[in-house]
Amino acid sequence: AAEHFDAIVVGAGPAGASAALVLASSGLSVALLDRGEFPGAKNMFGGVLYRHAIEALVGEAWKENGFPVERVVTEQRYWLLGPESMVTVGHRHEAFGREPNAWTAFRARFDPWFAAKAEQAGALGVYQTTVVDLLRDPKTGRVTGVLTDRDEGELYADVVVIADGVNSLLREKLGLPRWRPDQVSLAVKEVLALPRETIESRFNLEGNEGVTIEFLGDTSQGMVGLGFLYTNKESLSLGIGVMIDDLARHRIAPYELLESVKRHPMIRRLIAGAESVEYSAHMIPEGAYDALPPALAGDGWVLCGDAAGLVNFLHREGTNLAMLSGQMAGRVIAEAHRRGDLSARSLMAYDRELRASAIGRDLRRIRRMPSMLHRWGGRRLFGDLVGGINRAAYRYFLADGTPKRQAEAEALREIVRAAGGWRPLMRLAWDGFRGV
Ligand code: FAD
Repeated sequence: AAEHFDAIVVGAGPAGASAALVLASSGLSVALLDRGEFPGAKNMFGGVLYRHAIEALVGEAWKENGFPVERVVTEQRYWLLGPESMVTVGHRHEAFGREPNAWTAFRARFDPWFAAKAEQAGALGVYQTTVVDLLRDPKTGRVTGVLTDRDEGELYADVVVIADGVNSLLREKLGLPRWRPDQVSLAVKEVLALPRETIESRFNLEGNEGVTIEFLGDTSQGMVGLGFLYTNKESLSLGIGVMIDDLARHRIAPYELLESVKRHPMIRRLIAGAESVEYSAHMIPEGAYDALPPALAGDGWVLCGDAAGLVNFLHREGTNLAMLSGQMAGRVIAEAHRRGDLSARSLMAYDRELRASAIGRDLRRIRRMPSMLHRWGGRRLFGDLVGGINRAAYRYFLADGTPKRQAEAEALREIVRAAGGWRPLMRLAWDGFRGV
C-alpha cells in the first residue's frame, strides 16, 4: 500500500522546512519533499537572513559552529543613482555586530542546514523528488496526498503543506489565480569573487562585518525595479529585479540589464577585478496583500511562503515571512490533529492567524504600493525623479558663488521639474505617504 503520513510538506525551502520542523516536533509523521538534489541546491535569493525568524524556529542554533552564513550585516545603505552620481542614506551600528539582526548567506548552504533541523526533529527528508500533482478524493475533492515523479509515486497524508515557492505548480493545481505580470518581478544575480581583504577595505569592514546596499534609479532603465549589492566572506552578490510586465514592454534581456548595472560608475569601482562565479535568475512575488489567494487553507491543504505571495518587497523580507508562515501552519495543523478535526474550517485558522499577524498587517499596509508604482511608472519615478534629486544635490553642494538661498531654490526647482510640476509632486508625496 502507498505510504501515509500525518502531513506531507512540498518544498524544503525556509517555509517548508519550518512547517516540517514544527509538525515533526509535535510528534506527527511528516515527509518533507524537494525536487533538488538536496534542499537549497538550486535556490537563490539576494540575500539576507533575519535572526528573529531563525530564532523563532531553532532557538539559538545560530550560535553553533558551522552556522552557514557569510557576514553579519552591520550597515545598510540605500542609494539613489543618477547616470553618474548618487544620493545616499544608510545606517551602521556596532550593536548589530554584537547582537546580530541579519546575515548575508547563500541558500545552497543555509537550506540544507535548516532542513536538517526538521529531519533531526523526525521529519523524513525525501529529495530529488518532484511533486507533479495533488491527489484528491474523487467524491469530496479533498486533497489526500501528492503524486511524485518516482515510480509508484503516490504519497498520502491528512494534510499537504504547499511550500513550493513562487512558481508553485500546486497552487495552480488548486485552481488558485496565477500571478499577473504586474505582481511579480524577475531578479538576476551574479556572485563575484574578490579576496576577503579587498572586500573589507572597499566596504570599510572589520572581521565578519557586512554591508548591504539597495539601489534604485538610472540602473533599472525606466522600469520599476531595485538593485542590490551585498558583501559575502569572499564574494559580492550583485543583482537587480524588475517587474515582469515592464521587462516585457521594454524588451530588455535581464543579463543585459545586469551588465549595464556593472558599468555604472558607482558600482564599477566596487566590483573591479572581481571574477564572476555564478549567475542565476528567480522570480519574486511583489503583489502584497491584494495578490494573496482568497484562502490560504482549504480541504486537506495549506499554502505558505512564496507560494502564497508572502514577500514584503519594501523591506526585502521573504525568507522570514516564509519561516514564520510555515511555523504558523505547522502549529495550526498540529493543533487540528490533536483535536481530531482536520476539516477545511479547522485549517482556516491558519488563514485567519496569518492575516491578523505582523505578516498580514505589513502586507496590508503596503497594499497600495504596487498600483502606485505602476501608475507613476518606472520612467517617472526611477528615472526622472531620482535624476532630479541627484541634480538637486549637485546644485546644493556646488560652491560657485551663487547665493545659498538662490542655490537652494534652484535645487528645489530641479525636483519639482523632475516630478512634472508642483501638483504632481504633491500627489506623489500623498500617494507615497498612503502607500507605506
Ligand atoms: P523557496 O525558497 O522558493 O523554496 C521552495 C522549494 O520548493 C525549493 O527548494 C524548490 O526546490 C522546491 N520545489 C518547487 N517546486 C517543487 C515541486 N514541484 N516538487 C518538489 N519540490 C519543489 N528574502 C529575504 O528574506 N532576504 C533577501 O535578501 C531576499 N532577497 C531576495 C533576492 C532575490 C533575487 C530573490 C529572487 C528573492 C529574495 N528573497 C529574499 C525572497 C526569498 O528568497 C523568498 O521569499 C523565500 O525563499 C521563500 O521561501 P519559500 O520556502 O516559500 O520558497
